[in-house]
Amino acid sequence: MDKRNLSLKPFFSLILSTNIPKAMLIGGLIGSMITTLTGLIIPLLTKNLIDNFSMEMLSVHIIIAISAVFIIQALINGISMYLLAAVGQKIVARLREKMWNKLIRLPVKYFDTTSSGKTVSRVVNDTGVVKDLISDQFPQFISGIISIIGAIIILFILDWKMTLIMFISVPLMIVLMMPLGRRMGKISRKMQDETAAFTGDIQQTLGEIRLMKASNAEQTEKKKGRQGIERLLKLGLREAKVYALIGPLMYLIMMVVIVTIISYGGMRVASQTMTTGELIAFLLYLFQIIMPMTSFAMFFTHLQKAKGATERIIEILDFPLENGQHGLDVDLGHKTLYVKNVSFAYKKEEPVLQDISFKAQPGEMIAFAGPSGSGKTTMFALLERFYEPDSGDIFIGDISIKDISLLSWRSQIGYVSQDSPMMAGTIRENLCYGLEDQSISDEILWKVTKMAYADEFIQSFPDGLDTEVGERGVKLSGGQRQRIAIARAFLRDPKILMMDEATASLDSQSEGIVQQALSRLMEGRTTFVIAHRLSTIVDADQIIFIDQGKITGIGTHHELLETHPLYREFAEQQLT
Ligand code: ADP
Repeated sequence: MDKRNLSLKPFFSLILSTNIPKAMLIGGLIGSMITTLTGLIIPLLTKNLIDNFSMEMLSVHIIIAISAVFIIQALINGISMYLLAAVGQKIVARLREKMWNKLIRLPVKYFDTTSSGKTVSRVVNDTGVVKDLISDQFPQFISGIISIIGAIIILFILDWKMTLIMFISVPLMIVLMMPLGRRMGKISRKMQDETAAFTGDIQQTLGEIRLMKASNAEQTEKKKGRQGIERLLKLGLREAKVYALIGPLMYLIMMVVIVTIISYGGMRVASQTMTTGELIAFLLYLFQIIMPMTSFAMFFTHLQKAKGATERIIEILDFPLENGQHGLDVDLGHKTLYVKNVSFAYKKEEPVLQDISFKAQPGEMIAFAGPSGSGKTTMFALLERFYEPDSGDIFIGDISIKDISLLSWRSQIGYVSQDSPMMAGTIRENLCYGLEDQSISDEILWKVTKMAYADEFIQSFPDGLDTEVGERGVKLSGGQRQRIAIARAFLRDPKILMMDEATASLDSQSEGIVQQALSRLMEGRTTFVIAHRLSTIVDADQIIFIDQGKITGIGTHHELLETHPLYREFAEQQLT
């Protein structure tokens, strides 16, 4: 265990940062203390009842009084349980909200290195662990401590000799339970990690179910699934073994103590140095000590778990945000875009883009061409500000894009790729996705779909704009998805357009229509395109040829054909 794990500070500061509903917490704790303290009086009452038993005692008044106390205690107990549970729920809700708000603002870099399944597990499971600790374990622990301290004090007053005998069991308990508790903590942390990994794997496979089936990967997946399940099983069994040790050991110690107390107490009762009522009260207090003790083992296990969960939650909360959460609101229209000496690497020492410089005049079409893996998509990602250049800068007019807020920047950039991604939901929801104003009239929606040549096929659906597209748009054809993406772009009226003619190609009929829609969309906008078609290249104002992360030529198709041998070769072989 490293030092960090020993400290509870991160856990508490995380909880404090959620703005705990203090009044509820204090109310709940006071209620739970009252319940515990009244619980401590019951054995004393029992003792008096047994030792001084007589018929007069059972007067109506006393019965009513006792019943009233019980009912009030039950009420207070109920209210305090609710309050504490509500505190836990509120804290977890705030924690989840904080994490979610953070997650959606994390840079793409975070998602490159963390699987979405793991992230899901952090938002759902890890926050749940923290909640359990706060609303179940923590109150139990507090009332347990009160109960134990109270019971021990009363026991000492009742009969200190017997109390001392009982205490023999305490070191025994600690010696046996400490190592088991620590083991349990370790196992359950591993369990959490494994659960997160397993969730991640399952999610990944389910997300690419078509790929899995098309690749006949059922056997591989079966094996992978079984491995994950078996790892969980192994940990589960180890957990069960530790529990199987803790339970009976506790029971054994308890029985030994009880038997010792009863024998010794029996002797004392026989020799009349103790009353029967006292002995029974003693045993009842004993239970009030032993019961919370057993739950302590659970408390410490949960504490370990919560520490692990906290670390993972904090890891997300502390991850640096995307730059540009704040910044200027700049109109990108009619401005020249300059890329100046930009270099970028995903991993240090593996440069992907080196010293890239070019400029794009308003309304120009710039095509990126080059072999696969040369860095075209990366250049796009820099323009979309998914990553920041390691050196060099990008300017629009004379403003560095770093100074422009992401909201402003991205709202003026349209992106259309060939495998246009979609969200599950209706066509309407997809068109309006992310727009502040969600109440866009049907008239406008039909207008943009018409501009994108998407109106006809949408009309042919019985539900029209309210047709469900399925997860990631699986219920639509590639061409249909793409035309909806183009309609989305029309609706946003971006100043800069980015198009990725990814390698997946459409059938020639829909390609023709999509091409027409795109040409219409490009009119009057600065357009960047990763080009795979000769027609795109021929139309481009500038072609930027990237090879192994460096620009090796800039010019029109004809200029490059004449001056750039590699480009000529590329154009002849790669372009369709
Ligand atoms: P292109 O679009 O020209 O085919 P890319 O820009 O996609 O090229 O890739 C350029 C290089 O960067 C490739 O070597 C690729 O392996 C690497 N790369 C791309 N994306 C990532 C990423 N998210 N993390 C690490 N390396 C990446």
